[in-house]
Amino acid sequence: MTNRQIFLQHVGQTSQAPLCLDIVRAAGSRMWDADGKEYLDLIAGISVCNLGHCHPRVTAAVREQAEKYMHLMVYGELVQSPQVLYAQKLTKHLPDTLDSVFFTASGSEATEGAMKLAKRHTGRSKIISFNNSYHGSTQGALSAMGSEYWKQAFRPLLPQVIQCDYNHFGQLEEIDGDTACVIAETVQAEAGIVKPQDGWLVALAERCREQGALLVLDEIQCGFGRTGTLWAFQQYGVVPDILLLGKALGGGMPLGAFVASRSLMGKLTHDPVLGHINTFGGHPVCCAAGMASFDALIEEDVLSEVSEKSELFGSLLNHPSILKLSRCGLLIALHFDNYDHNKKIIDQLIERGLFTDWFLFASHAMRVAPPLNISEEDIRYACKIINEVLDSGQ
Ligand code: PMP
Repeated sequence: MTNRQIFLQHVGQTSQAPLCLDIVRAAGSRMWDADGKEYLDLIAGISVCNLGHCHPRVTAAVREQAEKYMHLMVYGELVQSPQVLYAQKLTKHLPDTLDSVFFTASGSEATEGAMKLAKRHTGRSKIISFNNSYHGSTQGALSAMGSEYWKQAFRPLLPQVIQCDYNHFGQLEEIDGDTACVIAETVQAEAGIVKPQDGWLVALAERCREQGALLVLDEIQCGFGRTGTLWAFQQYGVVPDILLLGKALGGGMPLGAFVASRSLMGKLTHDPVLGHINTFGGHPVCCAAGMASFDALIEEDVLSEVSEKSELFGSLLNHPSILKLSRCGLLIALHFDNYDHNKKIIDQLIERGLFTDWFLFASHAMRVAPPLNISEEDIRYACKIINEVLDSGQ
């Protein structure tokens, strides 16, 4: 049997039409399949590989930590220097009120932890999230997902989790004295890149404060420079009570976190003790990889180039068959008329060696979210191929 056949037969599947490329190596913005075919990666593992694949500083950190120790003990008991150093570094780059990092094993688990912390802190159970938002696939996070299509088969989910329209000022009145927290993506990704409109996040934060509800901002996909600033919330004049991190946090290794003030986070230590626990959260190898990636992101000044690269994509992708282009830094969506058309274009691009994908709640839109350190030459090449494929009438 080929690897592809074994994959289909023995690896649990998530759809009936997986992409099925057999990638054997990846470096920088490139991946190679078993036949030696090269792909330019335009999605960076869905905003994970912000510095491309196998950045030398990250692979060195992984190797070094793996030789010192890997798993020692469940999260939260032992002082493990990769966790300590990374938590210190992250909090140094966050506002003073976000000074305690609870490491998890995934983004979904970060959402779960934040929902629990908000319930524990407020003694309330109502949670508000937004239509077309994605916060993870576990049942708590799924309850907060903003689309009935993806939830209905799994009901009953958590009670009292309701969705409002993102960017709708009037619906902020739903946030009331029963609300434990509001969870929002600072920039909605799977909706096809939807930015908060002027003043909306400030109004949201203000309403949360008035009503005693916590504001949870999900930067699992839009954090770590993806939108042009280290944290997307820096562009909108708000600071969340709890920040959700994941994806690029681990530099290509599995890692998530929810970040809050030390006093708030302390609520998980009593009544009951062990309010949130896990085995693999903050795995030392993942923290070492994440920190190496974070250091490189800052020290190699990758952030300063994001807006310029975004502009370049914007200026080169102006083909008439692109109905709309939404972009926030290097989180870009090309909107076509429907899913079938979009999928045909995506398949054709993969054929031509450009690796891309669609969005969960905007299946008519194509994702362009490459490594942040993609070269200008690669951007020009990618746009040339996209325009050629669109010219060919796909
Ligand atoms: N929130 C957002 C905004 C995400 O994009 C994702 C992952 N796509 C998650 C949460 C869940 O993260 P994970 O897949 O690591 O559980």
